[in-house]
Amino acid sequence: MPPTSSPGSLSPDDASEPFALGPPPPVATPANAPPPRQPAAAPRQGHASSGHTAAPPARLAPSAAPTAPPEDAPIAAEGALVFPLFDPPLANYKTGARWYGAPRSGGRHHAAVDLIAPHLARIRAVADGVVVQAPYYFYTGTNALEVRHPGIGVVRYGEIDVRKVVHLEAGDRVSAGQVIAYVGRLDSGSSMLHFELYSGKASGALTVRGNPPYQRRRDLVDPTSLMDRLLPQVQRRH
Ligand SMILES: [Zn+2]
Repeated sequence: MPPTSSPGSLSPDDASEPFALGPPPPVATPANAPPPRQPAAAPRQGHASSGHTAAPPARLAPSAAPTAPPEDAPIAAEGALVFPLFDPPLANYKTGARWYGAPRSGGRHHAAVDLIAPHLARIRAVADGVVVQAPYYFYTGTNALEVRHPGIGVVRYGEIDVRKVVHLEAGDRVSAGQVIAYVGRLDSGSSMLHFELYSGKASGALTVRGNPPYQRRRDLVDPTSLMDRLLPQVQRRH
Protein backbone atom coordinates (compact mmCIF):
# COMPACT_ATOMS: atom_id res chain seq x y z
CA MET A 1 0.00 0.00 0.00
CA PRO A 2 1.75 3.11 -1.16
CA PRO A 3 1.28 5.77 1.44
CA THR A 4 0.13 8.57 -0.73
CA SER A 5 -1.29 7.74 -4.05
CA SER A 6 -4.60 8.97 -5.08
CA PRO A 7 -3.76 8.93 -8.73
CA GLY A 8 -6.13 10.22 -11.30
CA SER A 9 -8.93 10.30 -8.86
CA LEU A 10 -9.88 13.91 -9.13
CA SER A 11 -13.30 13.37 -7.82
CA PRO A 12 -14.10 13.74 -4.18
CA ASP A 13 -16.20 10.69 -4.21
CA ASP A 14 -17.08 7.50 -5.88
CA ALA A 15 -14.52 6.70 -8.45
CA SER A 16 -16.80 4.10 -9.77
CA GLU A 17 -20.40 3.38 -9.25
CA PRO A 18 -20.51 0.37 -11.47
CA PHE A 19 -24.02 -0.61 -10.64
CA ALA A 20 -27.12 1.04 -11.89
CA LEU A 21 -25.80 2.03 -15.23
CA GLY A 22 -28.41 2.33 -17.88
CA PRO A 23 -31.72 0.73 -17.12
CA PRO A 24 -32.31 -0.21 -13.54
CA PRO A 25 -30.76 -3.54 -12.85
CA PRO A 26 -33.14 -6.42 -12.44
CA VAL A 27 -31.83 -6.84 -8.95
CA ALA A 28 -33.21 -3.54 -7.88
CA THR A 29 -35.86 -4.81 -5.64
CA PRO A 30 -36.79 -2.66 -2.72
CA ALA A 31 -35.09 -3.53 0.45
CA ASN A 32 -38.29 -4.84 1.85
CA ALA A 33 -38.15 -7.77 -0.48
CA PRO A 34 -38.40 -11.19 1.10
CA PRO A 35 -35.51 -12.10 3.28
CA PRO A 36 -32.47 -13.56 1.64
CA ARG A 37 -32.06 -17.24 1.19
CA GLN A 38 -28.92 -17.47 3.14
CA PRO A 39 -29.61 -17.48 6.81
CA ALA A 40 -28.62 -14.24 8.38
CA ALA A 41 -26.20 -13.12 5.77
CA ALA A 42 -23.58 -10.91 7.25
CA PRO A 43 -24.53 -7.64 5.72
CA ARG A 44 -21.22 -5.95 5.21
CA GLN A 45 -18.87 -8.51 3.84
CA GLY A 46 -17.55 -6.18 1.26
CA HIS A 47 -17.97 -8.14 -1.88
CA ALA A 48 -18.03 -5.54 -4.51
CA SER A 49 -19.77 -7.62 -7.05
CA SER A 50 -22.56 -9.41 -5.38
CA GLY A 51 -25.20 -6.98 -6.41
CA HIS A 52 -28.41 -7.72 -4.75
CA THR A 53 -28.21 -10.28 -2.03
CA ALA A 54 -28.94 -9.85 1.58
CA ALA A 55 -31.98 -7.79 2.04
CA PRO A 56 -31.84 -7.30 5.76
CA PRO A 57 -33.97 -9.93 7.39
CA ALA A 58 -35.51 -7.75 10.02
CA ARG A 59 -37.22 -5.46 7.58
CA LEU A 60 -40.63 -6.96 7.35
CA ALA A 61 -43.27 -4.71 8.68
CA PRO A 62 -44.27 -5.51 12.20
CA SER A 63 -47.69 -6.84 12.91
CA ALA A 64 -49.14 -3.38 13.09
CA ALA A 65 -51.93 -2.56 10.72
CA PRO A 66 -50.66 -1.14 7.45
CA THR A 67 -51.22 2.52 7.64
CA ALA A 68 -49.95 3.97 4.36
CA PRO A 69 -49.25 7.59 5.21
CA PRO A 70 -49.66 10.14 2.47
CA GLU A 71 -46.62 10.34 0.33
CA ASP A 72 -45.64 13.83 1.26
CA ALA A 73 -46.17 13.62 4.96
CA PRO A 74 -42.96 13.93 6.91
CA ILE A 75 -42.93 10.95 9.16
CA ALA A 76 -41.68 12.04 12.49
CA ALA A 77 -40.85 8.76 14.07
CA GLU A 78 -37.78 8.29 16.23
CA GLY A 79 -38.18 11.64 17.80
CA ALA A 80 -37.82 13.91 14.86
CA LEU A 81 -35.71 11.72 12.64
CA VAL A 82 -36.80 10.74 9.19
CA PHE A 83 -35.33 8.60 6.46
CA PRO A 84 -33.84 10.94 3.84
CA LEU A 85 -35.92 9.52 1.00
CA PHE A 86 -39.66 9.00 0.70
CA ASP A 87 -39.27 5.47 -0.58
CA PRO A 88 -36.91 2.63 0.16
CA PRO A 89 -33.72 2.69 -1.85
CA LEU A 90 -33.83 0.62 -5.01
CA ALA A 91 -30.86 -1.43 -3.88
CA ASN A 92 -29.41 -2.50 -0.58
CA TYR A 93 -26.97 0.06 0.77
CA LYS A 94 -24.96 -2.67 2.46
CA THR A 95 -23.94 -4.52 -0.67
CA GLY A 96 -22.49 -3.89 -4.10
CA ALA A 97 -20.37 -0.78 -4.20
CA ARG A 98 -22.81 1.11 -2.06
CA TRP A 99 -21.79 0.30 1.48
CA TYR A 100 -19.74 2.47 3.80
CA GLY A 101 -16.15 1.35 3.39
CA ALA A 102 -16.54 -0.17 -0.05
CA PRO A 103 -13.27 -0.06 -1.95
CA ARG A 104 -12.70 2.68 -4.46
CA SER A 105 -9.83 3.39 -6.79
CA GLY A 106 -6.50 4.37 -5.39
CA GLY A 107 -7.08 2.51 -2.14
CA ARG A 108 -9.74 4.93 -1.02
CA HIS A 109 -12.77 3.68 0.83
CA HIS A 110 -16.31 4.82 0.24
CA ALA A 111 -17.18 7.38 2.89
CA ALA A 112 -20.95 7.09 2.71
CA VAL A 113 -23.85 4.84 2.04
CA ASP A 114 -25.38 5.16 -1.40
CA LEU A 115 -29.16 5.21 -1.45
CA ILE A 116 -30.10 4.36 -5.00
CA ALA A 117 -33.12 6.32 -6.15
CA PRO A 118 -34.59 7.73 -9.32
CA HIS A 119 -33.15 10.92 -10.69
CA LEU A 120 -34.87 13.91 -9.05
CA ALA A 121 -36.38 11.91 -6.24
CA ARG A 122 -36.96 14.21 -3.29
CA ILE A 123 -34.43 14.29 -0.50
CA ARG A 124 -35.55 15.41 2.93
CA ALA A 125 -33.70 16.53 6.00
CA VAL A 126 -33.26 13.66 8.42
CA ALA A 127 -33.79 15.99 11.37
CA ASP A 128 -34.06 19.63 12.29
CA GLY A 129 -30.85 21.40 11.49
CA VAL A 130 -28.88 24.32 10.18
CA VAL A 131 -27.27 24.50 6.78
CA VAL A 132 -23.48 24.50 6.99
CA GLN A 133 -22.71 24.76 3.30
CA ALA A 134 -25.11 25.76 0.58
CA PRO A 135 -25.17 23.42 -2.41
CA TYR A 136 -21.81 23.24 -4.13
CA TYR A 137 -20.26 21.17 -6.86
CA PHE A 138 -19.36 17.72 -5.60
CA TYR A 139 -18.84 14.90 -8.03
CA THR A 140 -19.22 14.16 -11.74
CA GLY A 141 -22.11 16.41 -12.47
CA THR A 142 -23.68 16.55 -9.04
CA ASN A 143 -23.76 18.83 -6.02
CA ALA A 144 -23.65 18.34 -2.28
CA LEU A 145 -25.26 20.12 0.64
CA GLU A 146 -24.06 20.10 4.25
CA VAL A 147 -26.41 20.35 7.19
CA ARG A 148 -25.69 20.19 10.91
CA HIS A 149 -28.33 18.20 12.75
CA PRO A 150 -27.97 18.58 16.50
CA GLY A 151 -27.82 15.21 18.16
CA ILE A 152 -26.88 13.48 14.95
CA GLY A 153 -23.96 15.33 13.48
CA VAL A 154 -23.17 16.91 10.17
CA VAL A 155 -24.64 15.28 7.10
CA ARG A 156 -23.30 15.76 3.63
CA TYR A 157 -26.16 15.07 1.25
CA GLY A 158 -24.10 14.21 -1.79
CA GLU A 159 -24.74 13.60 -5.46
CA ILE A 160 -27.76 15.86 -5.52
CA ASP A 161 -29.05 17.53 -8.62
CA VAL A 162 -27.28 20.59 -9.96
CA ARG A 163 -30.27 22.04 -11.77
CA LYS A 164 -33.19 21.40 -9.50
CA VAL A 165 -31.86 23.15 -6.43
CA VAL A 166 -33.62 24.09 -3.23
CA HIS A 167 -32.46 27.54 -2.32
CA LEU A 168 -30.59 27.19 0.94
CA GLU A 169 -27.75 29.18 2.37
CA ALA A 170 -25.37 28.65 5.23
CA GLY A 171 -27.19 29.43 8.44
CA ASP A 172 -30.66 28.59 7.12
CA ARG A 173 -32.74 26.38 9.36
CA VAL A 174 -34.34 23.27 8.02
CA SER A 175 -36.82 21.05 9.74
CA ALA A 176 -37.06 17.30 9.85
CA GLY A 177 -38.73 16.01 6.74
CA GLN A 178 -38.30 19.20 4.76
CA VAL A 179 -37.35 18.64 1.14
CA ILE A 180 -33.87 20.07 0.80
CA ALA A 181 -32.59 18.62 -2.46
CA TYR A 182 -33.26 16.24 -5.33
CA VAL A 183 -31.31 13.18 -6.35
CA GLY A 184 -28.81 14.05 -9.03
CA ARG A 185 -27.55 12.08 -11.96
CA LEU A 186 -23.88 11.23 -12.22
CA ASP A 187 -22.09 11.51 -15.50
CA SER A 188 -22.16 7.73 -15.52
CA GLY A 189 -25.94 7.84 -15.61
CA SER A 190 -26.58 6.39 -12.19
CA SER A 191 -28.48 8.28 -9.53
CA MET A 192 -28.46 8.07 -5.78
CA LEU A 193 -28.21 9.98 -2.55
CA HIS A 194 -24.66 9.64 -1.25
CA PHE A 195 -25.17 10.05 2.49
CA GLU A 196 -22.11 11.00 4.57
CA LEU A 197 -22.21 11.49 8.30
CA TYR A 198 -19.80 13.28 10.64
CA SER A 199 -19.98 13.49 14.40
CA GLY A 200 -19.36 17.21 14.27
CA LYS A 201 -16.43 17.04 16.65
CA ALA A 202 -14.05 18.36 14.03
CA SER A 203 -14.25 21.40 11.84
CA GLY A 204 -13.12 22.39 8.40
CA ALA A 205 -13.60 20.88 4.99
CA LEU A 206 -15.17 17.44 4.89
CA THR A 207 -12.99 16.14 2.08
CA VAL A 208 -9.43 15.83 3.31
CA ARG A 209 -6.86 14.54 0.87
CA GLY A 210 -4.14 12.60 2.52
CA ASN A 211 -6.33 11.23 5.28
CA PRO A 212 -6.63 7.63 4.23
CA PRO A 213 -8.52 5.51 3.76
CA TYR A 214 -11.62 7.65 3.43
CA GLN A 215 -10.00 10.95 2.46
CA ARG A 216 -12.42 12.64 4.77
CA ARG A 217 -12.38 14.70 7.93
CA ARG A 218 -11.45 12.70 11.01
CA ASP A 219 -14.89 12.80 12.57
CA LEU A 220 -16.43 10.81 9.73
CA VAL A 221 -18.69 8.09 11.08
CA ASP A 222 -20.51 5.13 9.63
CA PRO A 223 -24.10 6.10 8.80
CA THR A 224 -25.30 2.54 8.36
CA SER A 225 -26.90 2.10 11.75
CA LEU A 226 -28.71 5.41 11.43
CA MET A 227 -30.11 4.31 8.09
CA ASP A 228 -31.09 0.97 9.56
CA ARG A 229 -33.06 2.71 12.28
CA LEU A 230 -34.89 4.99 9.88
CA LEU A 231 -35.47 2.71 6.92
CA PRO A 232 -38.56 1.00 8.37
CA GLN A 233 -40.39 4.32 8.17
CA VAL A 234 -40.55 4.04 4.42
CA GLN A 235 -41.01 0.31 4.20
CA ARG A 236 -44.46 0.04 5.67
CA ARG A 237 -46.26 1.32 2.66
CA HIS A 238 -47.54 -1.04 0.06
ZN1 LIG B 1 -21.31 7.24 -2.70
